Amino acid sequence: MGFAICLVLGAVACNSNQNATQAPGAQLGSAQLASTPRAQHVRITTLSTMMTDWPTLTGAPFGEWGYAALVEVDDKKLLFDTGKDPTVILHNLDALGISLADVDTVVLSHRHDDHTGGLVALQQKFPSGLRDVIVGAGFAGAATSFRVVGRPTSLLDMPYVQVTGPIPRTVEEHDIEREQLAVPEDQALVIDTVNGLIVITGCGHAGVVNTLDAAQAMFPQRPVLALLGGLHLYERTPSFGFASLEAYLDAVGQRLRRAAVRYLVGSHCTGLESLYWLRVS
Ligand SMILES: [Zn+2]
Ligand SMILES: [Zn+2]
Repeated sequence: MGFAICLVLGAVACNSNQNATQAPGAQLGSAQLASTPRAQHVRITTLSTMMTDWPTLTGAPFGEWGYAALVEVDDKKLLFDTGKDPTVILHNLDALGISLADVDTVVLSHRHDDHTGGLVALQQKFPSGLRDVIVGAGFAGAATSFRVVGRPTSLLDMPYVQVTGPIPRTVEEHDIEREQLAVPEDQALVIDTVNGLIVITGCGHAGVVNTLDAAQAMFPQRPVLALLGGLHLYERTPSFGFASLEAYLDAVGQRLRRAAVRYLVGSHCTGLESLYWLRVS
Protein backbone atom coordinates (compact mmCIF):
# COMPACT_ATOMS: atom_id res chain seq x y z
CA MET A 1 0.00 0.00 0.00
CA GLY A 2 3.03 2.24 -0.04
CA PHE A 3 2.78 3.48 3.53
CA ALA A 4 6.17 4.42 4.89
CA ILE A 5 7.47 5.33 8.32
CA CYS A 6 10.94 6.71 8.84
CA LEU A 7 12.59 7.84 12.04
CA VAL A 8 13.12 11.54 12.55
CA LEU A 9 14.53 12.70 15.87
CA GLY A 10 13.72 9.40 17.51
CA ALA A 11 10.10 9.51 16.51
CA VAL A 12 8.10 9.38 13.33
CA ALA A 13 7.42 10.76 9.94
CA CYS A 14 4.41 9.21 8.24
CA ASN A 15 3.57 9.36 4.59
CA SER A 16 0.39 7.90 3.20
CA ASN A 17 0.15 7.64 -0.54
CA GLN A 18 -2.79 8.36 -2.76
CA ASN A 19 -3.99 4.78 -2.92
CA ALA A 20 -7.21 4.67 -0.93
CA THR A 21 -6.39 1.34 0.67
CA GLN A 22 -9.00 0.39 3.26
CA ALA A 23 -7.32 -0.31 6.59
CA PRO A 24 -8.25 -3.37 8.69
CA GLY A 25 -11.47 -2.89 10.58
CA ALA A 26 -12.85 -0.19 8.32
CA GLN A 27 -16.59 -0.57 7.93
CA LEU A 28 -17.33 1.95 5.24
CA GLY A 29 -18.48 0.93 1.79
CA SER A 30 -16.89 2.05 -1.45
CA ALA A 31 -19.55 4.72 -2.10
CA GLN A 32 -18.85 6.31 1.30
CA LEU A 33 -15.11 6.10 0.75
CA ALA A 34 -15.49 7.94 -2.51
CA SER A 35 -17.64 10.72 -1.04
CA THR A 36 -15.85 11.31 2.27
CA PRO A 37 -12.96 13.78 2.05
CA ARG A 38 -9.83 12.39 3.67
CA ALA A 39 -6.17 13.28 3.91
CA GLN A 40 -4.07 11.86 1.09
CA HIS A 41 -0.60 12.73 2.37
CA VAL A 42 0.49 13.15 5.99
CA ARG A 43 4.00 13.76 7.24
CA ILE A 44 4.78 14.16 10.92
CA THR A 45 8.23 15.34 11.96
CA THR A 46 9.03 15.21 15.65
CA LEU A 47 10.83 18.35 16.79
CA SER A 48 11.09 17.62 20.52
CA THR A 49 11.13 14.32 22.38
CA MET A 50 13.36 12.34 24.71
CA MET A 51 15.94 10.91 22.35
CA THR A 52 17.35 11.50 18.92
CA ASP A 53 18.53 8.81 16.56
CA TRP A 54 21.42 10.80 15.06
CA PRO A 55 23.89 10.74 17.97
CA THR A 56 27.10 10.95 15.95
CA LEU A 57 26.33 13.79 13.58
CA THR A 58 27.72 17.22 14.24
CA GLY A 59 24.80 19.58 14.63
CA ALA A 60 22.38 16.70 15.20
CA PRO A 61 19.06 17.34 16.95
CA PHE A 62 18.90 17.39 20.75
CA GLY A 63 16.63 15.31 22.93
CA GLU A 64 14.75 16.79 25.90
CA TRP A 65 11.82 16.07 28.22
CA GLY A 66 9.20 17.62 25.98
CA TYR A 67 7.14 17.17 22.87
CA ALA A 68 6.59 19.03 19.62
CA ALA A 69 5.81 17.90 16.08
CA LEU A 70 5.34 19.52 12.71
CA VAL A 71 2.24 18.03 11.07
CA GLU A 72 1.89 18.35 7.30
CA VAL A 73 -1.46 17.35 5.80
CA ASP A 74 -1.69 17.49 2.04
CA ASP A 75 -0.63 21.09 1.24
CA LYS A 76 -1.10 22.56 4.75
CA LYS A 77 0.82 22.52 8.03
CA LEU A 78 0.38 23.01 11.74
CA LEU A 79 2.61 22.79 14.78
CA PHE A 80 1.51 20.44 17.55
CA ASP A 81 3.06 21.51 20.88
CA THR A 82 6.27 23.49 21.14
CA GLY A 83 8.74 21.54 23.31
CA LYS A 84 10.18 22.69 26.63
CA ASP A 85 13.52 24.47 26.29
CA PRO A 86 13.31 27.08 23.51
CA THR A 87 16.97 26.55 22.63
CA VAL A 88 16.30 22.88 21.90
CA ILE A 89 13.48 23.30 19.38
CA LEU A 90 15.26 26.23 17.71
CA HIS A 91 18.40 24.10 17.39
CA ASN A 92 16.43 21.11 16.12
CA LEU A 93 14.67 23.20 13.47
CA ASP A 94 18.09 24.35 12.24
CA ALA A 95 19.48 20.81 12.36
CA LEU A 96 16.55 19.47 10.36
CA GLY A 97 16.48 22.42 7.95
CA ILE A 98 12.88 23.29 8.80
CA SER A 99 11.30 26.76 8.86
CA LEU A 100 7.96 27.46 10.53
CA ALA A 101 7.53 30.82 8.77
CA ASP A 102 4.65 29.44 6.70
CA VAL A 103 2.89 27.74 9.62
CA ASP A 104 -0.02 29.74 11.03
CA THR A 105 -1.69 27.22 13.34
CA VAL A 106 -0.36 25.93 16.65
CA VAL A 107 -2.20 23.31 18.71
CA LEU A 108 -1.24 23.13 22.38
CA SER A 109 -2.23 19.80 23.89
CA HIS A 110 -2.22 21.24 27.41
CA ARG A 111 -0.58 23.86 29.58
CA HIS A 112 2.52 22.07 30.90
CA ASP A 113 5.80 23.76 30.11
CA ASP A 114 7.29 20.71 28.39
CA HIS A 115 4.68 21.34 25.64
CA THR A 116 4.41 25.13 25.71
CA GLY A 117 7.94 26.26 26.62
CA GLY A 118 9.05 27.00 23.07
CA LEU A 119 5.99 28.98 21.96
CA VAL A 120 7.08 32.55 22.64
CA ALA A 121 10.60 31.99 21.26
CA LEU A 122 9.15 30.43 18.11
CA GLN A 123 6.76 33.34 17.63
CA GLN A 124 9.71 35.72 17.94
CA LYS A 125 11.78 33.66 15.51
CA PHE A 126 8.92 33.46 12.97
CA PRO A 127 6.96 36.72 13.42
CA SER A 128 4.90 36.12 10.28
CA GLY A 129 3.37 32.88 11.59
CA LEU A 130 2.28 30.82 14.59
CA ARG A 131 -0.46 33.30 15.53
CA ASP A 132 -3.52 31.02 15.67
CA VAL A 133 -2.82 29.18 18.93
CA ILE A 134 -5.53 26.66 19.79
CA VAL A 135 -6.05 25.40 23.33
CA GLY A 136 -8.73 23.32 25.02
CA ALA A 137 -11.24 24.91 27.38
CA GLY A 138 -9.76 25.15 30.85
CA PHE A 139 -6.27 26.01 29.60
CA ALA A 140 -4.43 28.47 31.82
CA GLY A 141 -1.69 30.65 30.41
CA ALA A 142 -1.16 34.29 29.52
CA ALA A 143 2.06 34.61 27.51
CA THR A 144 0.16 35.02 24.24
CA SER A 145 -3.42 35.03 22.97
CA PHE A 146 -5.27 31.79 22.39
CA ARG A 147 -8.28 30.40 20.55
CA VAL A 148 -10.17 28.27 23.05
CA VAL A 149 -12.10 25.22 21.85
CA GLY A 150 -14.54 23.30 24.01
CA ARG A 151 -15.43 20.56 21.58
CA PRO A 152 -14.13 18.82 18.43
CA THR A 153 -13.13 21.50 15.96
CA SER A 154 -11.81 21.25 12.41
CA LEU A 155 -8.56 23.01 11.52
CA LEU A 156 -6.79 24.19 8.36
CA ASP A 157 -10.20 24.39 6.61
CA MET A 158 -10.02 20.60 6.38
CA PRO A 159 -12.95 18.62 7.84
CA TYR A 160 -10.65 15.62 8.22
CA VAL A 161 -8.21 17.49 10.49
CA GLN A 162 -9.75 18.00 13.92
CA VAL A 163 -8.67 18.77 17.43
CA THR A 164 -10.66 16.93 20.09
CA GLY A 165 -11.08 19.78 22.56
CA PRO A 166 -11.02 18.63 26.21
CA ILE A 167 -11.17 14.83 26.14
CA PRO A 168 -13.98 13.37 28.29
CA ARG A 169 -12.58 11.08 30.99
CA THR A 170 -15.20 8.38 31.20
CA VAL A 171 -12.53 5.79 32.10
CA GLU A 172 -10.54 6.61 35.23
CA GLU A 173 -7.11 5.98 33.76
CA HIS A 174 -5.00 8.30 35.88
CA ASP A 175 -5.10 10.06 39.22
CA ILE A 176 -8.10 12.32 38.84
CA GLU A 177 -6.92 14.93 41.31
CA ARG A 178 -3.44 15.19 39.87
CA GLU A 179 -4.29 14.81 36.18
CA GLN A 180 -7.86 15.86 35.46
CA LEU A 181 -8.14 18.79 37.80
CA ALA A 182 -4.64 19.94 36.92
CA VAL A 183 -5.02 19.70 33.13
CA PRO A 184 -8.73 19.50 32.23
CA GLU A 185 -7.95 20.93 28.80
CA ASP A 186 -5.90 17.93 27.59
CA GLN A 187 -6.64 17.42 23.90
CA ALA A 188 -5.37 15.47 20.90
CA LEU A 189 -5.16 15.98 17.16
CA VAL A 190 -6.98 13.55 14.86
CA ILE A 191 -6.47 13.26 11.10
CA ASP A 192 -8.76 11.08 9.02
CA THR A 193 -6.58 9.72 6.23
CA VAL A 194 -7.41 7.40 3.39
CA ASN A 195 -5.74 4.64 5.42
CA GLY A 196 -7.37 5.35 8.80
CA LEU A 197 -7.04 7.81 11.65
CA ILE A 198 -3.78 9.31 12.86
CA VAL A 199 -4.07 10.35 16.51
CA ILE A 200 -1.41 12.58 18.09
CA THR A 201 -1.28 13.17 21.83
CA GLY A 202 0.95 15.51 23.79
CA CYS A 203 1.26 13.96 27.24
CA GLY A 204 -1.82 11.75 27.21
CA HIS A 205 -3.10 13.02 30.55
CA ALA A 206 -6.68 12.06 29.62
CA GLY A 207 -5.54 8.47 29.07
CA VAL A 208 -5.06 6.33 25.98
CA VAL A 209 -8.50 4.70 26.19
CA ASN A 210 -10.32 8.01 26.59
CA THR A 211 -8.26 9.58 23.80
CA LEU A 212 -9.05 6.79 21.34
CA ASP A 213 -12.71 6.90 22.42
CA ALA A 214 -12.81 10.63 21.63
CA ALA A 215 -11.05 10.19 18.27
CA GLN A 216 -13.31 7.40 17.09
CA ALA A 217 -16.42 9.25 18.30
CA MET A 218 -15.40 12.11 15.99
CA PHE A 219 -14.85 9.76 13.07
CA PRO A 220 -17.18 6.79 13.71
CA GLN A 221 -16.25 3.37 12.40
CA ARG A 222 -12.80 4.46 11.33
CA PRO A 223 -9.81 2.32 12.37
CA VAL A 224 -6.74 3.95 13.87
CA LEU A 225 -3.80 3.80 11.52
CA ALA A 226 -1.31 5.36 13.94
CA LEU A 227 -1.18 6.56 17.53
CA LEU A 228 1.80 8.71 18.39
CA GLY A 229 3.05 11.20 20.93
CA GLY A 230 3.25 11.06 24.70
CA LEU A 231 1.06 8.33 26.18
CA HIS A 232 1.91 8.97 29.85
CA LEU A 233 2.59 5.35 30.73
CA TYR A 234 6.06 5.75 32.22
CA GLU A 235 5.21 5.71 35.90
CA ARG A 236 5.44 2.42 37.81
CA THR A 237 2.51 3.30 40.02
CA PRO A 238 -1.02 1.93 39.82
CA SER A 239 -3.35 3.95 37.67
CA PHE A 240 -6.66 4.86 39.24
CA GLY A 241 -9.46 2.48 38.33
CA PHE A 242 -6.97 -0.36 37.77
CA ALA A 243 -5.27 -2.68 40.24
CA SER A 244 -1.79 -2.14 38.81
CA LEU A 245 0.05 -0.54 35.95
CA GLU A 246 0.15 -3.96 34.27
CA ALA A 247 -3.64 -4.27 34.54
CA TYR A 248 -3.98 -0.82 33.03
CA LEU A 249 -1.58 -1.67 30.22
CA ASP A 250 -3.63 -4.78 29.46
CA ALA A 251 -6.73 -2.58 29.12
CA VAL A 252 -4.81 -0.17 26.90
CA GLY A 253 -3.63 -3.08 24.76
CA GLN A 254 -7.18 -4.32 24.33
CA ARG A 255 -8.31 -0.85 23.29
CA LEU A 256 -5.44 -0.56 20.79
CA ARG A 257 -6.43 -3.89 19.24
CA ARG A 258 -10.10 -2.87 19.11
CA ALA A 259 -9.08 0.29 17.23
CA ALA A 260 -6.93 -1.83 14.87
CA VAL A 261 -3.93 0.41 15.59
CA ARG A 262 -1.27 -0.43 13.03
CA TYR A 263 1.53 1.93 14.09
CA LEU A 264 2.20 2.71 17.76
CA VAL A 265 4.87 5.37 18.20
CA GLY A 266 4.98 6.24 21.87
CA SER A 267 7.42 9.04 22.61
CA HIS A 268 8.02 11.63 25.34
CA CYS A 269 6.32 10.33 28.52
CA THR A 270 5.27 6.91 27.20
CA GLY A 271 8.07 4.95 28.89
CA LEU A 272 10.18 2.28 27.21
CA GLU A 273 9.02 -0.55 29.49
CA SER A 274 5.35 0.23 28.93
CA LEU A 275 5.83 0.60 25.20
CA TYR A 276 7.58 -2.79 25.10
CA TRP A 277 4.76 -4.33 27.17
CA LEU A 278 2.17 -3.04 24.69
CA ARG A 279 4.15 -4.20 21.67
CA VAL A 280 4.51 -7.79 22.93
CA SER A 281 1.04 -8.14 24.47
ZN1 LIG B 1 1.76 17.26 30.90
ZN1 LIG C 1 4.58 16.13 28.84
